Amino acid sequence: MTSAADAPPAPPIRTDVLIVGAGPVGLFTAFEAGVIGLTSHIIDNIERVGGQCVELYPDKPIYDIPAIPVCTARELVDRLVEQCRPFAPPMHLGHRVETLERLDDGRWRARTDKGLTFEAAAILVAAGNGSFVPQRLPLDEAVPLEGRHVHYSVPNLDEFAGKKVVVAGGGDSALDWALALRGVAQHVTLVHRRNGFSATDSSVANMRRAVEAHEMDFLVGTIGSLNAPGQKLASVEIKQIGGSVHVDADHLLVLFGLVADLGPIAKWGIDLQGGRIAVDTSNYESSLPGIFAAGDIAGYPNKQKLILSGFHEASLALRKAYNYAFPDKKRVHVHSSYDAKLAERVAASHA
Ligand SMILES: Cc1cc2nc3c(=O)[nH]c(=O)nc-3n(C[C@H](O)[C@H](O)[C@H](O)COP(=O)(O)OP(=O)(O)OC[C@H]3O[C@@H](n4cnc5c(N)ncnc54)[C@H](O)[C@@H]3O)c2cc1C
Repeated sequence: MTSAADAPPAPPIRTDVLIVGAGPVGLFTAFEAGVIGLTSHIIDNIERVGGQCVELYPDKPIYDIPAIPVCTARELVDRLVEQCRPFAPPMHLGHRVETLERLDDGRWRARTDKGLTFEAAAILVAAGNGSFVPQRLPLDEAVPLEGRHVHYSVPNLDEFAGKKVVVAGGGDSALDWALALRGVAQHVTLVHRRNGFSATDSSVANMRRAVEAHEMDFLVGTIGSLNAPGQKLASVEIKQIGGSVHVDADHLLVLFGLVADLGPIAKWGIDLQGGRIAVDTSNYESSLPGIFAAGDIAGYPNKQKLILSGFHEASLALRKAYNYAFPDKKRVHVHSSYDAKLAERVAASHA
C-alpha cells in the first residue's frame, strides 16, 4: 500500500509564460499573452485575484484607466477577469512562488510553497510590492501555537466548534468571522484596539446587535500575552486602559489585515534596484534572460506605480517572451480590431 507521502511528485505544469501575481497587471498579462498566441498560468499566494485593488481599496473609485472614466478597484478587477476569460488562463491561488531555477534548455522551473512545479519559457513577475501575507501578532509565544491555537485565516470553521475563540482585529474579516463563529463556537470575544472599525457599516451594526443580544463579547484593548501551558492555549491577556483582563480561550484568530512582503523574490538572484526588479525598459526583461517584470515590482528610472504603466510594461515584455517560447517563429503583429481568431474566442467566451 502506498501513502500520499510515497506518491511520486506531480509532473511539472508546462506553459509558455508563468505569471507571478494575480493583481491587475498579472490579469492583463494573461489576456495579452493569449492575444499573441502564448499560453499562460497565473499564480498568487492569496486566495483571490486583484492584488492591491482588492486587498487595499476595493470600493475606492479609480479615474485614470484609459476609456473608463470611473470604476471602483473591484470593478476594474472584475473587468480584467472578464477580459482574460477567452483564454481561460489557469489560476493557482494560495500558492507562493518560492524558487526559480534555470534548466539546461534555457527554460525556467518555478516551485511553489505547496509543491506545484511549473516549467515555462518565460516568467513574468507581476508581484507588486511582494506577496500579501497576514500581519502577524508581535508575540514570540504565538509562533509555536500557529496553526493549532493561533490562526491567521479560517480554512475550516468546524475546527472551532464548541470552543472558546478570541478574534482580534477591526476590519471586515475580523467582524465577519466573529459573527460567523457565533453559531459554531462555545463563546466568541472580539478584541479591537478602539471602539471604531474599518469595516462596512452593516458588519459593524450586525456586530453591535450581536453584542447587545449577548451572542458574543466585544472588548477594547490589545493582545498583551498568551497563557499556553504545555503549548496549549488556555487564556489571552487583553491589555486595556487601566489594566488587563484574561479571557479563557482555546483559539485565537488574528485578523489584522495583510502586508506585502518581497519574500522569496529577493533570493532569486535577479538584480534589484531599491527593492524592485531592475529591468531594461526596451522589453522589461530583468538581469536574468527570460525573466520579466511588470507593474509595481518593475524598477527603472522615472517608474510610475500606476496600473496603466503596468499594462504597457507587460505588453512589451510579452513580445520578447514570445521569442523564448518560439525561437524559430517570427511573430506578425495584428491589431486586435483585425484579429479574426481573437474575435471568435471573445464571442465564444460570451456565448
Ligand atoms: C490606496 C491605493 C490607491 C491606488 N489608486 C490607484 C489609482 O487610482 N490608479 C492607479 O493606476 N493606481 C492606483 N494605485 C496603485 C495600483 O493599485 C498598483 O499600481 C497596482 O495594484 C499594481 O498592480 P500589480 O499587478 O503590479 O501588483 P499588485 O496589485 O500588488 O498585485 C501583486 C500580486 O502578486 C502576488 N505575489 C507577490 N509575490 C508573489 C509570489 N512570490 N508568489 C505568488 N504571488 C505573489 C501578491 O500576493 C499580489 O496579489 C493605488 C494603490 C493604493 C494602495
